[in-house]
Amino acid sequence: MTDFKRDGSHLSSYPPVEKWDDWVELDPDAWPRRVEKHYQLVPTVCFNCESACGLLAYVDKETGQVTKFEGNPKHPASRGRLCAKGPATITQIHDPDRILYPMKRSGPRGGGKWARTSWDEVLETFGARIRKAFQENRGEEVMYHVGRPGQDHFMDRTTQAWGIDGHNSHTNVCSSSARFGYLLWHYTDRPSPDHANARFILLLSAHLESGHYFNPHAQRIIEGKMAGAKLAVMDPRLSNTASMADYWMPSYPGTEAAVLLAMAMVILGENRFDATFVKNWTNWEELEVDGFSAKGQSFEALIEALKRHYAKFTPEFAEKESGVKAEVIVKTAREIATAGSRFASHLWRGSSSGNLGGWQTARALMLLHVLTGSVGTPGGHSLSAWNKFVPQPFSDPPPQKHWNELLYPLEWPLCTHEMSPLLPHFLKEGRGRLEAYFTRVFNPVWTYPDGFAWIEMLRDEEKVGLHAALTPTWSETAWFADYVLPMGFSSERHDLMSQESYAGRWIGFRQPVLRVLQEREGKKFDYTYQANPGEVWEEDEFWINLSWAIDPDGSMGIRRWFESPYRPGQKLTVDEYYGWMFENSVPGLPEAAAKEGLKPLEYMRKYGAYEVTTDVYKLNEKAVAPAALAGSKVEANGVITKEGKAVGVMVHGEPVVGYNTPSRKLELFSKTMADWQWPEFALPEYYRSHIHQSAQTASMGKSGAEVDQDFDARYMPLVEWPKDAQGEVYTLLPIFRLPHLIHTRSGNSKFLYEIAHKNPLWVSPVDAQKLGDIRTGDLLKVHTEIGFFVLHAWVTEGLAPGVVACSHHMGRWRLDKEDQLERMSSAWVNLQEVGKGQWKMRQISGVESYKTSDPDTQRVWWSDAGVHQNLTFPVHPDPITGMHCWHQMVRVERAGADDRYGDIFVDTNLSFAVYQRWKALTRPAPGPGGLRRPLWIPRMRRPEGAAFYVSKKA
Ligand code: SF4
Repeated sequence: MTDFKRDGSHLSSYPPVEKWDDWVELDPDAWPRRVEKHYQLVPTVCFNCESACGLLAYVDKETGQVTKFEGNPKHPASRGRLCAKGPATITQIHDPDRILYPMKRSGPRGGGKWARTSWDEVLETFGARIRKAFQENRGEEVMYHVGRPGQDHFMDRTTQAWGIDGHNSHTNVCSSSARFGYLLWHYTDRPSPDHANARFILLLSAHLESGHYFNPHAQRIIEGKMAGAKLAVMDPRLSNTASMADYWMPSYPGTEAAVLLAMAMVILGENRFDATFVKNWTNWEELEVDGFSAKGQSFEALIEALKRHYAKFTPEFAEKESGVKAEVIVKTAREIATAGSRFASHLWRGSSSGNLGGWQTARALMLLHVLTGSVGTPGGHSLSAWNKFVPQPFSDPPPQKHWNELLYPLEWPLCTHEMSPLLPHFLKEGRGRLEAYFTRVFNPVWTYPDGFAWIEMLRDEEKVGLHAALTPTWSETAWFADYVLPMGFSSERHDLMSQESYAGRWIGFRQPVLRVLQEREGKKFDYTYQANPGEVWEEDEFWINLSWAIDPDGSMGIRRWFESPYRPGQKLTVDEYYGWMFENSVPGLPEAAAKEGLKPLEYMRKYGAYEVTTDVYKLNEKAVAPAALAGSKVEANGVITKEGKAVGVMVHGEPVVGYNTPSRKLELFSKTMADWQWPEFALPEYYRSHIHQSAQTASMGKSGAEVDQDFDARYMPLVEWPKDAQGEVYTLLPIFRLPHLIHTRSGNSKFLYEIAHKNPLWVSPVDAQKLGDIRTGDLLKVHTEIGFFVLHAWVTEGLAPGVVACSHHMGRWRLDKEDQLERMSSAWVNLQEVGKGQWKMRQISGVESYKTSDPDTQRVWWSDAGVHQNLTFPVHPDPITGMHCWHQMVRVERAGADDRYGDIFVDTNLSFAVYQRWKALTRPAPGPGGLRRPLWIPRMRRPEGAAFYVSKKA
């Protein structure tokens, strides 16, 4: 028995592993009596954002129920710490309104009538439809579309095992713009900053409070700060992150690259750059710009050419563009130069995802790292691939033969990911149809721009033959599905995850807690849904079984990828899938397990995570392996090739692996951009976003001297306002996150929604005056290019004038008073199509308390569900990256007498026209040699080589 002492000396930060099988705490419900409760603690991995922090599930030994989640101290990235969303998992698994059984619609699609069905029926129906599509060579009509992946391999492998180019993702509404900027420099498409060891940290977002890899990064940013690092934040909003900064730079949205290039010019101009690094590790000798060719020139001549090229980026120019004071730009640049190789930064969404050309922000930011030599260094910027570990499974299907143009169309040959926001428009244009469509933890009707276009697509049975929503919670999209298939939360499923959290590599193992515990006690299960609440399943087993249903006798060559590596011809189990990987493809894990007398799978089930390596720095300097060197040759530019493939590069006379770019160096000059019809962007550049003030002026029809002469309309589709749009023009920032909500997945967490449940429009006092002495709580009408929404104002000093902002989290809605979405987070609405493509939504009621098995639902005290702004946004596909450029030019006016809170109107005819205007800016493939896209740029589930050529279409 635990010895409870009044002085608290029995307390420790975390339960030690040796006590996880019988952890004793006092029962808080029994207070003031001191009643002991005995728990088994089982590690798993949080699924409430992409960070994959380690959870410890506390299972009450008496009831067999999970009663709370805390941090797993053995997880190397999260180290026992969690954000609010981790422990809130308990409210999700015990949500009385959660979906517990597979459901099939029993009336017309979208009609809201459902009947319980069986997993067998689901597998049979989808197996037959998909088999027929494959047999009729209609593989491209089968699509898996994922929101939060939450896993690192399984599903990508599945679509390839099916032989289809059918993997679709949400990345083009998320991060593909920043990815492209990084990718052009060093092939890997995301940053991995070593915050803990940095001396200066620059964040281009609210990363500390709500960023990508939120909790693992936040704790390391604070570590860095505690060790003396300074923090700068560039963000128009005074976020909680900005409030922690030494320098807050409230830049006008979309001008960040101008500020970064001005900083680069300060560093160059004051000769404070790391010349050795730039000379050795960039492809400077390939640079061609402004009539200057670096070929045969000295490095000093190159530097002079760069200074000439970037001469216009003075601090004063950057101040004029961005509003950030010139002296702050200079001071920050000098701090960055002083930090040198210990300069860390982060950019993921925010500026890059909001703006036309936002990818240039990442590219300009990387220029600062290159100039300071802070790439791959302690305290610097590292490559995600260096800090992430993805074990390989027992077999890997070959690349698919087909190229799916619904995913990677010719217009966007450089997009890093699938052009998924445009899917409804592609289907409307007749580019294809879907026979079987799986949406998985994905709610495009709500999350994406142009949600009514998604409703129009999903309700059309000609365009979408059969739609299954795989989801743990009800959603606006699930309402328009044929099947709603309940998938588990963090403690109800298997997944393997790794993220670039710090200068090391780790894996985390998500596991179904109740199944694992009962199996420890000797109980046997065929499938996880037998141990989970109701019949909640997990995707891994679902896809294995569906693959067998598609190809029951193995004649299609699909089933074999889902057969056991240990029992030939038998169905693969999850234990075998992960067990094989842990035994065979995680270096050091078998030995670590053996030391404790465990099998690798048992070790992972015990600890939930494993650290593969630490202190990963400068992998570009690794020597090329002797086997790779044998028979290789050195090209004129120093690249070492073997059998036509680059394997390294000569640096200082040494053969080293370098980076995975064509030059094997950091690409200051991108020949790819030049070759693919964008020669003006071969270097990092700044160009004005679609919401730049000059575009606003132009949108109001002003001309001549009133329009900024620098406004370059080549890249900027002009806004055409609907005839009813009135009011002042502003830039709307619609994508800032709140730290305690999860896109659309926290609607069933009473803890999280009690903390935050409204999304008013942030308005600066200056603009509040301009709009007619607006006060907090007044109703405003916000017009977009395709409609309007009505919401409350929040007047705040924490925002630059000329900009308004609204968090993207709130505004959930349901069509049924009692059903569909959790009533604690959604408004009950009336939705009408008042004309072809003209949609009108009005809230009937906000949130109200209600009766369920959980008494807390009767204690719901808030009434506001927020307003769904995304519905009123058209798609804005960046002509190069394809990223949806989220920021909106809007007109704001005081709401009229007929306007009510939450009102929304949208005309999808207008949204289709906006799509056409943006599409016209693209420079389509084919590129050199008839290619659809550059061969060296990564692509989700890469098809075989021939499929890359337009002329050799398979
Ligand atoms: S940051 Fe929060 S939500 Fe994300 S994985 Fe960690 S605990 Fe979960």
